[in-house]
Amino acid sequence: MQENNSAEQIQQTEQQSATPQPQRKKHGKKWRELHPRSLLRAMGSQDGVSEDKLRALVETEYTDPVISLYLGLGPEKVAPEPKGLLRSFHSMKTHALDEHKDFVDSLSKSQRATLEHDIQEIDAFLADYFVPQHLRSLVIFRSGERLNEVIGLLVPVNDGMKIDPDPYITPLEAVLEDDEKVLFVECAKQDTKFLLYQLGSCQQIDRSKAFVPTDTVDKSIPHHAQQHRLEHLRGHLRQVAGEVYQLYDQGTCDLLVLMAENRVAALLDEYLHESLKPKIIARVLDSPDADMRNRKELIENALREHRAEKETKAIEALQNHKPEELVTSLRNVINILNLFLIRKLLVSENLHQKGFACKEHHYLSLEAGNCPFDNSKLLAAENVVDEVVEVARLHGVEVLIIKQRQDLLAEYGGIAGVHYAVPPQTVAATG
Ligand SMILES: [Zn+2]
Repeated sequence: MQENNSAEQIQQTEQQSATPQPQRKKHGKKWRELHPRSLLRAMGSQDGVSEDKLRALVETEYTDPVISLYLGLGPEKVAPEPKGLLRSFHSMKTHALDEHKDFVDSLSKSQRATLEHDIQEIDAFLADYFVPQHLRSLVIFRSGERLNEVIGLLVPVNDGMKIDPDPYITPLEAVLEDDEKVLFVECAKQDTKFLLYQLGSCQQIDRSKAFVPTDTVDKSIPHHAQQHRLEHLRGHLRQVAGEVYQLYDQGTCDLLVLMAENRVAALLDEYLHESLKPKIIARVLDSPDADMRNRKELIENALREHRAEKETKAIEALQNHKPEELVTSLRNVINILNLFLIRKLLVSENLHQKGFACKEHHYLSLEAGNCPFDNSKLLAAENVVDEVVEVARLHGVEVLIIKQRQDLLAEYGGIAGVHYAVPPQTVAATG
């Protein structure tokens, strides 16, 4: 009897412990002191997110269940109501325990105790946590003593919580995939700084200084001195160009922004590898010493323009496809996606609609009902558009989230896809 109700039990235990009663010692030694110390420590030591880190996360084996929590830090959750974060965690937790009921019910007594403790610790952490203003989202992975990660992101993610044998990393993968790393090259005559912009943060990663010739040697012959300095400038720029190429080649960056005064910029161009030229998204033709503007803002402006251009091109390119290959509006996209026939998808960032899903068979619907594959009841999804994107990514569909030019996608109902040819009777049957 008890075994069947463990998911509810955890919820009840949770509700009891939320009231300020003295903590009952239910699980003997397993019950550690309830203090979010290890999560706070993880927060302090977090060093961002990378593909290597994600790989390490999924390659590790976990004996206890893994909690994966994604919390968007919109102003509505953080600013006016300090407990907003905790409230959304509570509703996500209820939803997650329900969604993963079968898995939770299959856990051993000790695994379940760990899960309960992990949930309580996250709860205590979020109650105490002071959200830094610049953070847009928070990601927590937790599995007993084995896994303890808190990742603060400067980019938004959608809310979600999973309880699984492994960490759920799809949203983080999407964040990384979507993120373009920009190398900002601040090039002066004798000193060049390399800044890397990634996931909303900007850091200097390298600096290259030219060997400065002493003027004394050539002082007597002014023309010679000038010649000499030009050679040194060329030498410095050749070195800078080499370093930019290397950083790009190693995958450190995807795009470039160059800052240099006109003459230096023109010389640098002579040395830059041809393959890098299309990667330059902006040029700031100013001497780095004279231009005090915030570098991060310069990069973000350049990225926004670059992004808007990329989105415009992608939306306009929809017209190049035959009308029968084009699918628009959420309902039609879902129908074709359920047939696994979409190959390219453009989605407005703000498109939002409730819907239903079978997670196991990746079957989606705007209406309640049963999954046609196993006849199980479809689960409600707060935003079925998130499910659409997730399923599309799982199937290797090329997905572009439209952020800057949502206006252009409006005529398609905020979502459009390109699909493989499909016999019309099949569409009719599922629509
Ligand atoms: Zn199903």
